[in-house]
Amino acid sequence: MDVEAKISELRSKIREADHAYYVDANPVLGDAAYDRLLSELVDLERQYPEFFDPNSPTVRVGGAPLDAFASQAHERPMLSLDNTYEHDDLQEWFDRVARSIGSEPSVHPEPHSLFGDQAVPDVLVALEPKVDGVAVSLRWERGKLVLALTRGDGVRGDDIVQQVRTIRNLPLVLSSAPEVLEVRGEIFMDDASFAHLNATRESAGLPLFANARNATAGTLKSLDPSVAAERQLRFVAHGLGVVSTELGSSWSDSRCRLEAFGIPVNGPSVLVRGASEAVSEIGRFDQLRHTLGYPTDGVVLRIDDFALQDQLGLTSRAPRWAIAWKFAAEQAPTRLLDVEWQVGKGGTLTPRATMAPVFLAGTTVQHASLHNIEEIERKDIRIGDTVLVEKAGEIIPQVVQPILAERTGLERPIVAPEVCPSCGQPLVRVGPKIYCINPSCPAQIREKLAWFAGRDQMDISGLGDKLVAQLVDAGLVNTFADLWRLDVQSLMGLEKVAEKSATSLIEAIDQARGQGLARVLSGLGIPQVGVVAARTLAEHFDDHHQLLAASAVDFEALPDFGEITAQLLWRWLHKQGGETVLSDLAEMGVDLRSVRAESSQLQSLADCVVVVTGTLPTLGRKDAEARLRELGATVTGSVSAKTTHLLAGEKAGSKLTKAQSLGVQVVNEAWLLAHLDTPSE
Ligand SMILES: [Zn+2]
Repeated sequence: MDVEAKISELRSKIREADHAYYVDANPVLGDAAYDRLLSELVDLERQYPEFFDPNSPTVRVGGAPLDAFASQAHERPMLSLDNTYEHDDLQEWFDRVARSIGSEPSVHPEPHSLFGDQAVPDVLVALEPKVDGVAVSLRWERGKLVLALTRGDGVRGDDIVQQVRTIRNLPLVLSSAPEVLEVRGEIFMDDASFAHLNATRESAGLPLFANARNATAGTLKSLDPSVAAERQLRFVAHGLGVVSTELGSSWSDSRCRLEAFGIPVNGPSVLVRGASEAVSEIGRFDQLRHTLGYPTDGVVLRIDDFALQDQLGLTSRAPRWAIAWKFAAEQAPTRLLDVEWQVGKGGTLTPRATMAPVFLAGTTVQHASLHNIEEIERKDIRIGDTVLVEKAGEIIPQVVQPILAERTGLERPIVAPEVCPSCGQPLVRVGPKIYCINPSCPAQIREKLAWFAGRDQMDISGLGDKLVAQLVDAGLVNTFADLWRLDVQSLMGLEKVAEKSATSLIEAIDQARGQGLARVLSGLGIPQVGVVAARTLAEHFDDHHQLLAASAVDFEALPDFGEITAQLLWRWLHKQGGETVLSDLAEMGVDLRSVRAESSQLQSLADCVVVVTGTLPTLGRKDAEARLRELGATVTGSVSAKTTHLLAGEKAGSKLTKAQSLGVQVVNEAWLLAHLDTPSE
């Protein structure tokens, strides 16, 4: 086979695998097989640059940074939507639509009655959640993605196509699409990716993003596409721009066509008739939105039928045929009782407000973030103030502002601390940030140890925040390795620790010796090295000796390791005491070998090929899969003749049927838990 044919075969195989994964949710290739194809393609493209294709699947990993974004005009302006928070406005919109597309206005005796009750009850309005991200207009020509313009001022936007090409759920090449297809939609970060991004930034001592939308916008502003590639952005379509051949006569028809092309569409979507149905659906969305796993800030309502849309037309700013219902950020007033400066595991001090308990967005809230000292000073927030607290897209409630009218004159200003509240050492202030740089600061050690003992790291049950604090305060534990120097006797010297719980804690700590290199590395708080990066390291290095022998260049060659992460890791290992931390742990008998090195002897499911399906009683799907992998099983997405077990929960569906027809053994969660409880020797 000639090189060109080989390259094109690899590209189409990878595209098929992407489609199976992102569209059918039924992967046809394992991760390793996928990576093999991709790296083969990368090699060939590097060797034969004459076969370059801007939409090759290899662009997913990023590509060369840009000097600047090119600005370009939208062929059709990218309008925004009118917004409303009021039921009255919504009803008025329905009334207006009814008057414009119904018969003559004079025919309606009661212009104020609800649209649905009037003479044109068959007009369908499509409702979709409004995803809170960054709007973009994508353009495919002859099936190839050629352009991705930001909204800009609605008339001109910036071309961010290189960044957009890294979005994995977006097909870069479409078969059987119209000659020109412009799809408008939203680029966003799901809750899990956002949490992961902020966690890695926190451990690297970088400023956190306030919400997923800011994180997405910040990512897309980076001229280096590999930043977007690393941060796992996603796309959903919510409209059309220029289309050379209509996809259908309505938005809901067109949506189906987009979906068939493999373009992710915005769902769940429903069709309603009339304002009262719309209001009850909006209420339902409001209930549902926190379970979607990605940020939404409202509901978009639009006339489904394109002919009716044309009839209604546009204003200069917004279409008349659509409106956005925005969920109000829930706010409540309460009294600010105190401000506490908390020391994080990276040494950053953050101000946390304690308030009189207040009910907000479904929960009782007593603490809120005050961001940093500059924000406090700018807003002039004082202790004793009645403040407005808000829970919007953010996970942690925020203090919005003081209510000045309620001031009595007895309020006290909030001052930045000069010494660390934990260790008493002088603090360092850099702009709005305040740091404790004392490496033996007890608060930092507490935070680090609590993280290390956590479920995704050493998973030491019984070792929670409170006990960690007691251990550090009593001087029993100062380093990670000190945990394995504890004994029942010394634990029993602590307040409220009985012999029984001391014994089981020592057992749990003892067992944690065997968690393996990946979990140890993700627990140490190495800047930028979270669960995923730690796993990558453990896949490429057999043990900590190999890790210590590696250069920053070796780290940079790892998948998803940029230059900065590589440098930070190398510095941590060789300049910031990492070598000592690891050798201390090794001395205490903590296993610093990678799972790879031990997989053949220790893992009870090593010969199993398992598919997980349905809803399990206690474990999430990802969690179950991770645990299966820990036990050595190969986890795949689809049932085939090679599958040995189907781990099925409720609503297992077609995979269960297929497994039964192939005679694959069907097991439940209890089976997995039993294997986890009896580690084989
Ligand atoms: Zn300190």
